[in-house]
Amino acid sequence: MSEPQRITHLIDGRPWQGTAERTAPVHNPATGEQTGAVDLASADLVGAAVVSAKAAWRQWRDVSLARRSQVLFAFRELLYARREEIAALVTAEHGKVLSDALGEVMRGLEVAEFACGIPHLLKGGFSENASTSVDVHSVRQPLGVVAVISPFNFPAMVPMWFVPLALACGNAVVLKPSEKDPSAALAIAALWKEAGLPDGVLQVVNGDKEAVDALLAHEDIAAVSFVGSTPVARYVYETGTRHGKRVQALGGAKNHMLVLPDADLDLAADAAVNAGFGSAGERCMAISVLVAVEPVADDLVARIAHRMAGLRTGDGTRGCDMGPLVTRAHRDKVASYIEAGTEAGAKLVVDGTQGEFDADGDGFFLGPTLFDDVTPEMPVYTDEIFGPVLSVVRVSSYDEGLALINANPYGNGTAIFTNDGGAARRFQHEVEVGMIGVNVPIPVPVSYFSFGGWKNSLFGDTHAYGEDGVHFFTRPKVVTTRWPDPSHGGLNLGFPTNE
Ligand code: NAD
Repeated sequence: MSEPQRITHLIDGRPWQGTAERTAPVHNPATGEQTGAVDLASADLVGAAVVSAKAAWRQWRDVSLARRSQVLFAFRELLYARREEIAALVTAEHGKVLSDALGEVMRGLEVAEFACGIPHLLKGGFSENASTSVDVHSVRQPLGVVAVISPFNFPAMVPMWFVPLALACGNAVVLKPSEKDPSAALAIAALWKEAGLPDGVLQVVNGDKEAVDALLAHEDIAAVSFVGSTPVARYVYETGTRHGKRVQALGGAKNHMLVLPDADLDLAADAAVNAGFGSAGERCMAISVLVAVEPVADDLVARIAHRMAGLRTGDGTRGCDMGPLVTRAHRDKVASYIEAGTEAGAKLVVDGTQGEFDADGDGFFLGPTLFDDVTPEMPVYTDEIFGPVLSVVRVSSYDEGLALINANPYGNGTAIFTNDGGAARRFQHEVEVGMIGVNVPIPVPVSYFSFGGWKNSLFGDTHAYGEDGVHFFTRPKVVTTRWPDPSHGGLNLGFPTNE
C-alpha cells in the first residue's frame, strides 16, 4: 500500500501551501484502500479565497464577451482532449465504471459547449421610441462571486452544470466539491487555467460543513448553487436566503418508472436494469421504484431478474457493468435496507449481498438487488437508498400508479413506458415531477434546456444550466433613455406614463 496523496485547495491558480488543521480520507472504493487525504478548509481559509475571488472578479466582469468566449472554447477543447484522464479520476475515487465516468464528463462538456454561445445568450432587448423620443433597453450583469457546492455522485458533471455558465456570465466562482472524491474537480479547474482563465476567478476549496457554512454566511458570496441530499439542500436554501443570497439547492430523489400493460416489456426491462443499477444506483435520476400496472408484473419481474443474472459487478477499470459504492459506511447503510425490506415483508427476488465481485482487496461492493411486492409504507419505498436496490410496486391501474407518484415527497425524474401516445400525453401533463421520460428511463435534459426537479428535489425557483442558468447567474437591468430636445422637458410631478 502506498502513502495517501495529499489533495489540497486551488487558490489564485496555485495549490495551497498551508498546513490543514483537519483532513478527510479519500478511498479507491474498488480496493478499499485509502489513496488520498484531502485538506478541509477552515472558515478563515474560505474567507480569504472569497476575498481574493472578489478582487479577480473586478477584472473578469469587464473582460469582453469575445475574450470570455475564447476562454470557453479553449476550455471545451482541453476538456474534450483530456476526457479520459478526468474519467479515470472519477472512477478512482467514486468507483463508477470507466464508461459511465466518461459519460458524465461528456454530459458536463455539453454545458461548456452551451456556455460558448454566451455572447448570444446575454443579448438584451431594445425598444426604440417606447414613449415619444424615449428608448428602453435591458442588459444582464454578473452577480459577483458565486459558490458552487457539489455532491459525491457526479464529481465532474455537477460542478460543470454551473461553473462554465457562471464564469461565462462574468462571475467569479468558489467551488466546494465533495470531500469524498475531489480530484476530478481540481483537475478540471487546472484546465480552466490552461484555457486562459485569470487566476482567482475560479477558486477550489475542499471541505465539509465548516466550509459550506462559511460560504453561506460570507457577505461577498452573492449566490449559491448547491446539489446534494434533501436535508442539506433545505438547510443550504434556508441559511443562504436568510443571509440575503440567491440560492438554488437541488436535493434528493425517489424516481418512479410506470410501466403500462401495453408497453414493450423487453424495452422496459432493459431500461429498469440500466436506470436502476447504472452507477450502482448512485444517481439522482436513477430509477429506484418500478410501478407495474397489472397484469404485467410477474412477466416484467422475471425479465428483469433474468437480465440481472448477467450483470458483472467489480472494479470499474475492468470492463464490469457496475462498480462499488462510494464508501464502506454507505455500502453498509444500503445493505441494511435489504434487511429492512425483507423484515417489512417485501419479496427479495435478487439478493445483492450474495454476489461475487471482480476486484482485488476489500472494496465497497454490493450486488444489484430486486424487491417485489413493495408497499408505500416500507422503508425501502419511503427512503432514498441511493444504491443498487430496485423496488417493484404493483398497481391495478394507470390512475393508481399516477396517484402513487404524485403522493411522493420527491419530484426529480420519472418515466412512463407505453405504446399508447394518449396515455403518455396524459402522464406528462398530470404528473407532478420536473423531468419526464416517455420510453426514456433517465431523462436528463440536454444542456440548452434546464435540469431540475419539483417538491423536495429542488429548493428555489431556478433550475440548473440552460436559460435558467443564465438567469440565475446574472441580474437584469433596464435602462430608459431620452436625449432631450429641446433641453427643457417641463415640470410634471405625476407618475411617468407613456405617450
Ligand atoms: P450530501 O448532501 O451529503 O453532500 C452534498 C454537499 O454538501 C457536499 O459538498 C458536502 O460536503 C456538503 N455537506 C454535507 N453535509 C453537510 C452539512 N450538514 N452542512 C453543510 N454542507 C454539507 O450529498 P452526497 O451524499 O454528496 O450526494 C448524494 C445526494 O445528492 C443524493 O441525495 C442525491 O439524490 C443528491 N443529488 C441530487 C441531484 C439533483 O440534481 N437533484 C444530483 C446529484 C445528486
